[in-house]
Amino acid sequence: MKVLVLNCGSSSLKYQLINMENEGVEAIGIAERIGIEGSFVKHEATGKEKVVIEDTMDNHKAAIKIVLDALIDPNHGAIKSMDEIGAVGHRVVHGGEKFSGSVVITQEVKNALEECSDLAPLHNPPNLMGINACEEILPNVPMVAVFDTAFHQTMPESSYIYALPYEYYEKYGIRRYGFHGTSHKYVSDRAASMLGKPLEDLKLITCHLGNGASIAAVKNGQSIDTTMGFTPLEGLAMGTRCGDIDPAIVTFIMEKENMSVSEINNLVNKKSGVLGISGVSSDFRDIENEAAEGNKRAQLALDVYYNKVKKYIGSFAAEMGGVDAVVFTAGLGENSAIARAAICENLEFLGIKIDEERNNVRGKETVVTTDDSTVKVLLIPTNEELTIARETVNLI
Ligand code: ADP
Repeated sequence: MKVLVLNCGSSSLKYQLINMENEGVEAIGIAERIGIEGSFVKHEATGKEKVVIEDTMDNHKAAIKIVLDALIDPNHGAIKSMDEIGAVGHRVVHGGEKFSGSVVITQEVKNALEECSDLAPLHNPPNLMGINACEEILPNVPMVAVFDTAFHQTMPESSYIYALPYEYYEKYGIRRYGFHGTSHKYVSDRAASMLGKPLEDLKLITCHLGNGASIAAVKNGQSIDTTMGFTPLEGLAMGTRCGDIDPAIVTFIMEKENMSVSEINNLVNKKSGVLGISGVSSDFRDIENEAAEGNKRAQLALDVYYNKVKKYIGSFAAEMGGVDAVVFTAGLGENSAIARAAICENLEFLGIKIDEERNNVRGKETVVTTDDSTVKVLLIPTNEELTIARETVNLI
């Protein structure tokens, strides 16, 4: 069976067509600037030339139509007809407390997703638009929703309740949810396989370090804590997000700078993180380059970032009563030997000894610690799309 995996953002739509017989990617692409002038689709079918299709896309339905046309195009397509698409798997950001696993999409599920939109106003509405558009264009194809939050629904109350008046949890669902669940789950499964032990016997700390970044404490296969919270803003410093800060800073800046709610929201989500500290970029490649050339604020941004990751590794090890392996994944985690080395520096007390040579690697499954390191550090490229496709097939 072939599964179309869709990840709909507010103005973009990422897709992959995966053949589940061999789990191979048959086509991959992204529609950008949906609803904005100058929209286009970058599309590549495996073994064929990459194409850029410039066309008007007023909404997600128009974008999906163009993507499907690209998939069946005789020259740069991957399939002969749309009938070959056996199912669609949708990435959905927020499942609230309603969804602790993936679900086949029904009207009831869509209603529940609408209710969760309040919790993720930037993410869930475009996810729903993608679902509705697909339903119209491919009415007989089963669809599954795979949630970023679901994997963390196993967190105990002591991890997810904020020290706020309890009534706000009851009234508005204000609690910690956690995100990147699909990635944390995927790399946990791979880690168990690489270590040759059942996941149920392992204590893992999975570090998803991309543009957005989060860490999870995965004990016996279940997420028991994670760094992101009510929204994907909590926890680590990120490309442009501030992560944990003293909440009093928010009202302080608002008062001093006469800022509105949306302005402060923009500040902490889009202008902070390593971009805010360094003033250079939100991209770690640029910051690493600048730091190497002696830019002190670029180095400071990296140091703040590494320190936060290290702090959480320590606290999650304490929370689980130990750790068997630390996993690095996503853009920075998979590609930056500098970041992995800096984060793991001085963690020998925990049993972590990085092997410099083994760590000098990128983008492949491997162990980067010495043979006598009692805690293994693993590099595992994440694959959220494949996880979504597998969940989709399992459910239908
Ligand atoms: P997302 O999916 O959240 O957009 P990714 O997982 O693709 O993010 O990670 C993107 C980030 O990874 C980039 O912003 C960049 O900072 C970092 N990155 C990618 N490649 C490298 C590299 N070779 N060295 C350092 N950082 C890298």
